[in-house]
Amino acid sequence: MTEIKTKFEIDGILPYPLGSTLEEIQKEYGLQQIYKMSDNENPYGSSLKVREAIRNETEKVHFYPDGGVTRLLKRIASFYQLSEDQFIIGNGSDEVIRLLTRAYLNKGDEAIIADGTFPRYETNVVIDGGIPVKVPLLNGTHDLTEMLKAINNHTKMVFICNPNNPTGTIVERSVLLSFIQAVPSQVLIVVDEAYGEYVTAELAADTQTLIEKYPNLVVLKTFSKIYGLAGMRIGYGIMDAEIAANLKKVKDVFNVNHFAQVAAIAALEDQEFINDSTIKNASERERTASELMKSGFNPYPSEANFLFIPILKDIDLIEIALLTEGILAKKIAIPGVPAAFRITLGSREWNDLFLSVMQSFSKESEV
Ligand SMILES: *Cc1c(COP(=O)(O)O)cnc(C)c1O
Repeated sequence: MTEIKTKFEIDGILPYPLGSTLEEIQKEYGLQQIYKMSDNENPYGSSLKVREAIRNETEKVHFYPDGGVTRLLKRIASFYQLSEDQFIIGNGSDEVIRLLTRAYLNKGDEAIIADGTFPRYETNVVIDGGIPVKVPLLNGTHDLTEMLKAINNHTKMVFICNPNNPTGTIVERSVLLSFIQAVPSQVLIVVDEAYGEYVTAELAADTQTLIEKYPNLVVLKTFSKIYGLAGMRIGYGIMDAEIAANLKKVKDVFNVNHFAQVAAIAALEDQEFINDSTIKNASERERTASELMKSGFNPYPSEANFLFIPILKDIDLIEIALLTEGILAKKIAIPGVPAAFRITLGSREWNDLFLSVMQSFSKESEV
């Protein structure tokens, strides 16, 4: 036992629960196939162009990657019609969250976070000495009225996950716009759009067009979800050039590996794959949600690639029944909803299998 104490901030932090590996689960349940519906990855994989791009680079493993991520930056900047200095590319957008808390939080600074959202905001705020101020969700949606009220002289940043993980809900454009207008300019507004490409609602906000007007706005995007590059670890933030320059001061020099850079360029080019994924997901989202409702479940209205389904009874039994069919679902509790599944929408075949298990429990778990 070591007597060396960690820094005070990480005393209360629990390691992220990773659970069993796929191999372990496959062995335990004797499964031929696993339907991974637990981590919001793209069930259609990634663009085939990505594989080819990576294959062409295998001889370069002994070189350090380009620390400036130059080629990808050019493509992303032109994709959004913004300038290259308004972006930060990270080892996943997870890293960009960390860079923000690392660069901007002083001890005791407050960060406003929804109570029932992506856990990495709170963890990073705490590690960097900040104080998370949690505001309850309203019907599974960020309550921007209350979040605005929570802002005071100590507030340094506010996080909005849109669509929200794990509930899948969005805040409407007009509501988000009024919020952004009302937040004082010395408070960073971080809008995490990890699932932005899946939104089909008319009321979706086009946040990256607001960067020029609101220099305190940061928009986070990732290649892990619809782009299908979760295993590569690459994401980015769009922001005022001055904020980006500050984040660069605290980032690791070679934070994005060479293959991730190459893969992202290829993935960004194939917008047909992205559009196709958006369309298939939206149709499966509607179908799966409506079938679940027929069985008495009440999934939250989702604009993402997953459904949040409160479960009133027997969640552990349902989880085992799903596992027996090879389906991995994520059990998540949020305040007010002690038991729920967050289920990543799969292909039609996967969703049918999922529905057949859920239907067999509909009577017992009915609301
Ligand atoms: C998945 C996810 C991310 C980012 O993941 P990376 O793989 O680190 O890019 C960010 N925010 C939310 C809400 C997510 O669900």
